[in-house]
Order: sequence, then structure tokens, then C-alpha cells
Amino acid sequence: MAGYEFLQTSRSRMESGWMRKKLIRAMEDNRGLILTVIGLPLSFLFDKVMQFRNWWYREFLSSPSKHMDRVATIQAQVVRNASQPAGQRKTMCTARPNWLSLSTTFFNKEACHKIPIPLYDILELNETNLTVKVEPMVTVGDITRYLVPRGYTLAVTLEIADATLGGLAFGVGMTTYSHKVGLYQETIAAYEVVLGDGTFVRATRDNEYSDLYHCLPWSHGSLGFLVGLELQIIPVKPYIHMKYIPVKGQKNYCEKIRELSGTYDGSAEVPDYLEATVFSKEEAVIMVGNFADVTTKEQAKKINNVTRWYKPWFYKHVEAFLTSGEGEEYIPLREYLLRHDKAIFWVLESMIPFGNHPLFLFLLGWMLPPKPAFMKLTTTPVVRAMTFTKQVFQDIVLPINKLEEQINKSEELFDTYPVLVYPCRIYDHGKHVGQLRPPREDQMVPGTNYGMFNDLGVYGVPRDVRERRRWDAVSAMRKMEAYTRSVGGYHFMYADTFLDREEFNEMFDLTQYEKVRRKYHAEGAFPHVYDKTKPEVDVVAIGKAYMDPLS
Ligand SMILES: Cc1cc2nc3c(=O)[nH]c(=O)nc-3n(C[C@H](O)[C@H](O)[C@H](O)COP(=O)(O)OP(=O)(O)OC[C@H]3O[C@@H](n4cnc5c(N)ncnc54)[C@H](O)[C@@H]3O)c2cc1C
Repeated sequence: MAGYEFLQTSRSRMESGWMRKKLIRAMEDNRGLILTVIGLPLSFLFDKVMQFRNWWYREFLSSPSKHMDRVATIQAQVVRNASQPAGQRKTMCTARPNWLSLSTTFFNKEACHKIPIPLYDILELNETNLTVKVEPMVTVGDITRYLVPRGYTLAVTLEIADATLGGLAFGVGMTTYSHKVGLYQETIAAYEVVLGDGTFVRATRDNEYSDLYHCLPWSHGSLGFLVGLELQIIPVKPYIHMKYIPVKGQKNYCEKIRELSGTYDGSAEVPDYLEATVFSKEEAVIMVGNFADVTTKEQAKKINNVTRWYKPWFYKHVEAFLTSGEGEEYIPLREYLLRHDKAIFWVLESMIPFGNHPLFLFLLGWMLPPKPAFMKLTTTPVVRAMTFTKQVFQDIVLPINKLEEQINKSEELFDTYPVLVYPCRIYDHGKHVGQLRPPREDQMVPGTNYGMFNDLGVYGVPRDVRERRRWDAVSAMRKMEAYTRSVGGYHFMYADTFLDREEFNEMFDLTQYEKVRRKYHAEGAFPHVYDKTKPEVDVVAIGKAYMDPLS
């Protein structure tokens, strides 16, 4: 009898396993349809509710003059936590739900004492110093809406409207202006922070808290709560004159982007905005953008509102220049800044493969993009595992003198295109100053105090997965991370990483960070940056189990 029950149980387990696999395969095969019919409308509604909530908050609950009162409330909560007996005290984190963050990981906030940071206000525009003071929950969408009509933009921003200015400050930010000014952190004039003991400090590059100032970027909320930011802004013109330069041959496009970014000559004149989209190992389109006015009829005819709902996804528009040849146009500035928002760069292609069809765009394009927050809210364990066993989301800061090698490595390990290339200065601030090391000698731009690096953005489905073979995510990612460490690069920590603690310490210089953690009461008050950023699931074990032929 026992044997019969065992057989029955095994059989029903196999059947339910078989059913589960069938169901998952059916959902994967029809993901675009499911997303279109259910996901997009729900995401659109969800977005409208969130917009209403934010509007309500700004109209009725918020006011710039009450900034310090709001900060005092946060301080009081931190002090209350710090005064708990040692055994009962938990480390702290923000109460912002994981699903609202753009990160692909889900840090276990339940293990922490969650402190609400309801700070959504734009506080002050200083046109003399060219800075804007904001609270950390202001988003890229909000700040572009505020600054562009006033004739400014942030020196460094991101193309995703939902990213918060605080998240970019404590994570990392880079954009197509970064070949002129470096990472987002270089454009931060001051951070206002509530420390682990409840003290409020304002840290700048050269005040008494400059040691803290240099360690806050890449710290992911492990040194204190961010409550205010002063950011560098730049004067703008209403349009970006865009030139699209298709280039064949890997050496040619790599050389061209190095030349245009000023890699070889720090005094060379460089365009305002610069990026390349690599469509295959041998083909790329380089985009050169400059601030412009549109004053003539001829120019007006060349205006392209790239973000309108019926317009093709931006990278598809760019790809067309590979066949049509060099081209130019004028893009309204805010549309330029958010050009990659609708297709979330090219992430949307793997979710809704037919989403760029003109009919789809015409009928449903106004609902795009599906909100990252909504996608995360509906993430099941299976979908979570899929984010790293079947897809790649990586932004990696690598030295631009190795651009050819980076692209070859990405093809060898992931084989997914397009690949994004944003050139970016990495400044030499000296040894053990922050988490980034000074660039190596061969990476420096002659006669300057910075090296030229680039963001290599790899988002998509690896060829093995597309062709229904098993893709070894663990091996591929660990090889990529080893390569990054070997050339002195850095992975953005919003994405899943497979680094162990020792490898993390090798990638990032934590010498000063550890001192700052002790000095400013962060130890015991906030999780360590390694624990804060490592994926909440055992990516190595899940990845290995996925490769098991019996699974
Ligand atoms: C497809 C894709 C492409 C991307 N491409 C780029 C790119 O090209 N360039 C680029 O720069 N970035 C890129 N990013 C990453 C993006 O910049 C990060 O996710 C960034 O951190 C902003 O996200 P967020 O506002 O959701 O921050 P969050 O994830 O909310 O915050 C980042 C970290 O800071 C902590 N934190 C936030 N606010 C506070 C606070 N007030 N006090 C204490 N701690 C706080 C959070 O806990 C978290 O650890 C990309 C992301 C995706 C998904």
C-alpha cells in the first residue's frame, strides 16, 4: 500500500511539475499578448492613480517652506530607533516599497526598521550658482518638467522618468552629457543627510564632512538617510540638434566615439550630448547632439517629436539610419531627455515583441511604457528567477580604451543587441577617497585629472535563450564581473550581481567607506552596502539549479 501511495504521489508530483512547466512555457510564449491585454491597461491605471497620489501630495500636503519640519520628523524617528536597547535595535532603511524602485533586486526591508521619507518637493532654484535644491523623492519626470520651461536641465540625469533624484545620488547616475562632466555624483553640490544617531549634516566637497561627501555615491543608503540635494544645472536651448552617424566596422565606430568624446585630447571641442547604439559587432549608430534654437522654416521642417505615442521606439528610429545613411533632425529638449523612456531603452522588445508595430503604436502606444513599478509589483518567484536566468540587465562602467574588447566580451557571454555606449569621465579624486579608484594611467585623458570610461548597457535576451537552449547565467555573469574587475571597472548595483564579499571589495575600494561608516554612526544603524545590494535570492544556486538537465 505504502509503495502504491508513493507511486501515486510521485506521479501526481510529476504531473503537477509537467503542468507547471507547460503553464510557464505558455505564459512565456504569449507574454506579449498577456501584457498587452492585462498588463498594459492595469499598468496605465496604476500610473494614473500614482500620478493622482503625487499631485494630491504636492497640492495639499507639501510645501518647500516645511522642508526642515519634515526632516525633523525623520530625525526624531531615527533617534527613537537609536535609543532602543542594543538587542532590540534593528538596522534602518527607507519605507519606500521595493516595487517602486527601478532596481531588479528586492532587498528584504522587513528585516529593517522602516523609516518613511515623504520628501517630494523641489525646494529652490538658484540661478546665480546654477543649482537646484530638491528633496530626494523628486523624479526625473518632475525635474525635467520644472527645469526645461525655465531654460535649464540637470547636468546629469537619466532617461527614465520614474528614477528618483535621491536614488540616483545614492546609487549611480550617468547620461549622454557625462563625457563632459562625469557621473551624476560629480554634479552634486551638497547632500543633506540624517545620520544613524539622528544628527543632520550638510556634506559638500570641501566642508568638514567632505569625507562623507565622497562616500555617499554608490552607498545605497548604508551611510544615512538622504533628505536633500543641491544639484548642478546647465542653461539650455529648446531643441537638440541630432546628427545620426551610422558606422560600419568595429574599429571605426570605437575610434569615432573615442575621438568625439575627447578621449585623446582633453582640450578638444566635444558635442553637448553623445551616445552610440551598437546594433551588431560591426555596426553602430553614433548620435551627436547639440543645444539649438529652431529659427528658420527649413529647421522647423526637421523637428521630430520622438516621444509622441505613435512614433517608433527611439532605438528603432535610430536603427533605420543604418540603411538610410547619415541624417539630422531637431528634437524638443524634454523629449530628447526622455527619448528612451517609452521602450525602457529596448527592454520592452522582449516583453511585447510586436510593440513597435505602427498599428499597435497608433492604437495602444499611449499606454506605454508599462510602469517598472507595476512590473515589479506583479513579480512572482518564477518571474524573479527569469530576470537573471533568461534575461540580462546590466550597466557596467568600463574603460573606453577597451571598447572593442567589451563588445566582444558581451557578445561572447550574452550575445544580445543592441548594446548601449555612453562615454563618461571618471575623475581621479585620489586614493581611498570614495568607492571608485583613480583611473589607471593608460585610461587617463592626457593633461586632465580624469579618465574616459563608458557605460556598457546590456539589456535583453541572450541568444541561447532566444534559440531555446539553456543559458548559463551564473557562468556568464561571473565571467563578466571578473573581466570588469580585471580592467578596473564597476557594475551598477541596481542590477543582479553575483559577486562574493571578497570580489565586491576588489571591485570597489571600501577603505574610506568603512572609516566613514564608523565615524558617522552608520555601523549597526544601516545595513552594509554589500548586504544592501546583493540579490535577495541566492542567484548562484537558482542559476545552477536551472542548468540542471533534470529540472
Ligand atoms: C533598464 C535600465 C536601464 C538603466 N540605465 C541606466 C543608465 O543608462 N544610466 C544610469 O545612470 N542608470 C541607469 N539605470 C539604473 C538607475 O539609474 C537606478 O536604478 C537608480 O538607482 C535610480 O533608481 P531609483 O530611483 O528607483 O532608486 P532606488 O533603487 O530607490 O534607490 C537606489 C538606492 O538608494 C537608496 N535610497 C534611495 N533614496 C534614499 C534616501 N532618501 N535615503 C537613503 N537611501 C536611499 C535605496 O534604498 C537604494 O539602495 C537603469 C535601470 C534600468 C532598469
